Amino acid sequence: MSFHRNTLLELLEGVQTFEKDVYPENVNLFESLAYDQTPPTLFITCADSRISPSMITQTEPGELFLIRNVGNIVPAYGEMIGAVSSAIEYAVGALKVKNIVVCGHSNCGAMNALLDLNSPKLEKMPTVKRWLRNSEAAYAAMRGLKAEDAGPADIKSLAESNVLLQLTHLRTHPVVAGALARGELTIQGWYYDIKKGEILVLDEQSRASRPVSDVIAELKKTAKKNA
Ligand SMILES: [Zn+2]
Repeated sequence: MSFHRNTLLELLEGVQTFEKDVYPENVNLFESLAYDQTPPTLFITCADSRISPSMITQTEPGELFLIRNVGNIVPAYGEMIGAVSSAIEYAVGALKVKNIVVCGHSNCGAMNALLDLNSPKLEKMPTVKRWLRNSEAAYAAMRGLKAEDAGPADIKSLAESNVLLQLTHLRTHPVVAGALARGELTIQGWYYDIKKGEILVLDEQSRASRPVSDVIAELKKTAKKNA
């Protein structure tokens, strides 16, 4: 069983370890970050505690500008003016990020809820229910591709379908549309399998998922051609 910092005391002890051991070892990094941030990537993922964006991408503080929420959802522009749209505007408009990644994941509670939006359990969470409306079309798209009724095995398809939908929503944000048109921005969808420790890159055209090694090989080839 893994160790959990269950109490506030234990959490503060973690902070103490950071201050005493981790910070001194990385003091140059933190000093370089003291007054400015220039993250190349906006990373949008679920609030799920099992996802550690910096661990799965092997990035350091300063590299990922993060948006996290239930279900890694990006409401279409104008749907909801709030945390997500402001963070996108700031990341693309002010910080000039070069990449946006939307990362869904295995066994996502939000996707489970989306499979049964009328469940009594959700009645007690009216805000969540309303929020998940931004993913409803993903459910319809998945059902459209699969004739039979959705079951537990379809949670992966739904999570993937949801990521693809959120990429579409992302493009409705003027700041994103502008940067894409100028060729200053790349957007990509990922699916993270927690148990396997594996990321799949989702292809928007074919809706297929590809291993990272495939996409790396392709990007290297393109880079060579353009060199
Ligand atoms: Zn989730």
